[in-house]
Parts: sequence; C-alpha cells; structure tokens
Amino acid sequence: MAGIQDPCPKWCVTEPEEPEGSRHIHRTQRTEVERYESGTHASITTRGGSFGTDEIVVHAWHRTADSNSVQADLYVPAGDAPRLAGVFEALSYVSPDQIRELAAGIRQAGAEMTGAEAEAEPEAGA
Ligand SMILES: [Zn+2]
Repeated sequence: MAGIQDPCPKWCVTEPEEPEGSRHIHRTQRTEVERYESGTHASITTRGGSFGTDEIVVHAWHRTADSNSVQADLYVPAGDAPRLAGVFEALSYVSPDQIRELAAGIRQAGAEMTGAEAEAEPEAGA
C-alpha cells in the first residue's frame, strides 16, 4: 500500500526495520525495560503512536518459570500520558505482591462490570 499518508510530525522517528510498502505509523522513540530473575522474565515497552488517534501504547509481557507467557497491551489517549506516567511512578513505591493484588482487583472489577469470567492469573514466581 501507499507509504506516508501525512507529513511526519516532529516527534515521528524512523523505523529502520519497517518493511517496504507497509503502512507508515507515526511513532515516538520507544522506551523498553526488561528484568530477568529466578526464571522470570518481564518486558515492558512504551511509546507514542498515531494509530488513527494519537495514543501512548504500553506493551507488557512476562513469563515465570512455571507459567506460559502473558501479554497485555494498553492504549491510552496521548493527553492522558501524565496520568499514565503517574500510575507507573506510584507502582515503583509498592511491592510486587501489592502490584499483583492490584492486578487481581482490576480483573475482578472488570469481570463484575462486564459479566465476563475473570481470567485466572498464572501462578507467579517469587
Ligand atoms: Zn511518521
């Protein structure tokens, strides 16, 4: 298909690995963090992108020694970036167990509100 639909905004960075002829998506620089510990591997990346609307996307992935990999993506309007960053900063001040407690609470709330079954959290390693 056609390449760039609109001129790139100032914040758009070039994707060297972007295949020829693929649809161009304006993206900011990517930030990535990873952690390996005791058989557990987690990776979280975030960047801004223009996916129809300007959004911040967070790609999260983790695998423990005794679970399959779990992946989750979150898209937040670019105007909410300061609030999203505030949530991540607050997470840095609580323990991993407390973060898992929050994740369970989010799953439970979503299940209650949508009537869907809460997805079971795979057993997390230490
Ligand atoms: Zn662009």
